[in-house]
Amino acid sequence: MPSLDPERQSRILVTGANGFIGNHIIKLLLEKTQHQVHAVVRTPEKSLALQKVHGHSPRLTVHIVPDITAPDAFVQPAQLCHAIVHLASPFIASSSNIEEDLLIPSIRGVQAICHAADANETVKRLVYCSSFAAVFNPAPEGSSPSKVYTEEDWNPTTYDQAKNAPALIYAYQASKAFAEQEAWNLSKEQNRWDMVSLCPGVVFGPPVEGTISTVTELGQSNGIIWGLFDQETVPETKVPVWTSVASLAEANISALTTPDAGGERFLLVNGSYENQELCDLIRASNVNHTTKDRLPKGDPGHRTHELWRADGSKAAQYLSFSQPTLEETILPLKDYLLRLEADKAGIPSQNSKSSVPSSATLMGLGSFASACKAAATKCPVADVSVIAHEGTPVGREEVHDGVNLYITGNASGTAVLYLTDVFGINLTQNRLLADSFGRAGFLTVAPDLFNGTPSPMDLNEPGFNITDFLAKHGPEATDPLIDVAVKYLKGTPGVSKIGVTGYCFGGRYAFRYVAAGKGGDAAFAAHPSLLEDAEISAIAGPVAVAAAETDSSMPPERRHNITALLGQTGKPYNVALYSGTEHGFGVRANVSDPEQKYGKESAFFQAVRWFENWV
Ligand code: NDP
Repeated sequence: MPSLDPERQSRILVTGANGFIGNHIIKLLLEKTQHQVHAVVRTPEKSLALQKVHGHSPRLTVHIVPDITAPDAFVQPAQLCHAIVHLASPFIASSSNIEEDLLIPSIRGVQAICHAADANETVKRLVYCSSFAAVFNPAPEGSSPSKVYTEEDWNPTTYDQAKNAPALIYAYQASKAFAEQEAWNLSKEQNRWDMVSLCPGVVFGPPVEGTISTVTELGQSNGIIWGLFDQETVPETKVPVWTSVASLAEANISALTTPDAGGERFLLVNGSYENQELCDLIRASNVNHTTKDRLPKGDPGHRTHELWRADGSKAAQYLSFSQPTLEETILPLKDYLLRLEADKAGIPSQNSKSSVPSSATLMGLGSFASACKAAATKCPVADVSVIAHEGTPVGREEVHDGVNLYITGNASGTAVLYLTDVFGINLTQNRLLADSFGRAGFLTVAPDLFNGTPSPMDLNEPGFNITDFLAKHGPEATDPLIDVAVKYLKGTPGVSKIGVTGYCFGGRYAFRYVAAGKGGDAAFAAHPSLLEDAEISAIAGPVAVAAAETDSSMPPERRHNITALLGQTGKPYNVALYSGTEHGFGVRANVSDPEQKYGKESAFFQAVRWFENWV
């Protein structure tokens, strides 16, 4: 059966890459194999965070797929991939529309991933992360205590029952069954690639370091452990089978390379548990009395119910993964959670009640994440480490149709067209800023707008006349050069949209290139010069502007005038003024001045957010 050769370097696509489990799988792939990892996330910010967590590994390429329900969503990211690990699926705690938020994305995500496998001849295997939720009967009287679930069992919930489920958790569990069934159906329609389905229990274990910074960001399953803290009584156990996240990541790697696993479904469980046992384990561990008292005592050593079980012997027979005890999994997680809480609350670990919301209200699957979201105190939205102010540019130059293009960043659905100031693509700061867009998740292309002869750095240099220079480089000369870059981007596989970013001289062209038919879908312009009213009125897409406090090209009256004209276009617009900045700050700020540095970095994030929202 088709599987990967473990000895050869292959290309693996991982969806849901930035999630709890996805990060563990990527870490293991990067640390323990030679494979190239192609990860899929939803936004440039998540791309950036993922790359940072994994040390900007050259073996990690991140693709941005904003909508997994689009039929072709994964076709481009899966190009040249040999195998796929599909994890992306809503695992949410609140919803006003179960069908739209849960059922449709999980099923269509599977349809899209199977279509990507069909569309890319290199793909041999799909490892699909289903769940024990797709296996067991969640109805209150659904399982007798003596029941032992196997790979033959399926969650019997119907689509209509799921759509009208009284609690979201039932709909989530059913969504996993519907999606897995769809994946099996689609995989059986062909025989070039095969599928392995893994059905883990509730997945516990410390998240990959650096992926979350507060307990409020915990996912649903680890949220169960945090939900035990500060409870009066031991919460009811909802799904009493567990899987270590480390074992699950190992099993995924094994599933990629084990020939006989193809076409098989595996219950991947490390054991059964009850919340009482979790409380007992933590209370008996080396925590001080205050921490111990945060866990409900319950009835130590006694299970409250006779529990059904899951038979994980098939997975143990076919796949290779470790089998830690519950204690070995839970205690490091407990340490991690207490450390996280202490770090964020500024309190000594183990000794105090949390300053984050009491976990007493955050019990079990289904309620934790919504409370977390409401209470979230910090999100990684503006990580300045993506911006390089100095150093060596990382892009490359290619000549297309006689125009030199500076190209940087990985393939992406939304690309950035970077239009420089008069100093052109040879200016290191322009290249570095283009690289920053690349690191933020956008394939970025900057055409040489001056055919190798930009203006000198000193505009007063003897023999140089800026007026003549600008007259020579008007739209008649410049548009055809930009057209080449647009053509290049439109011809790049996977690129479907273009955000245009322009600085000073290039700012005017950012406006010009969101006019109808010019190729841009949204634009950002920092301190644009020579911009004409007609060019503002002609925009056909959203435009954001970053303005300098001191700018003879755009003094306050002109800024107000530009704002008014933008307002008349009916398109979304945004004009931001940065104090302490001068014309050119978007690229050439003096970053030893905190105000200028802030202005340059914020203008960059303004552009990234603009493209993320409007392209
Ligand atoms: P996380 O919530 O941490 O990760 C889920 C991932 O899926 C994230 O990358 C998330 O992206 C993505 N995702 C969620 N909804 C959508 C959507 N509508 N469109 C596109 N992407 C989406 O969960 P886990 O890592 O715990 O779960 C990963 C997979 O494992 C899921 O399929 C889950 O059902 C399955 N699983 C998990 C178990 C557990 O106990 N944790 C148990 C059994 C199975 P974003 O960050 O942008 O939201």
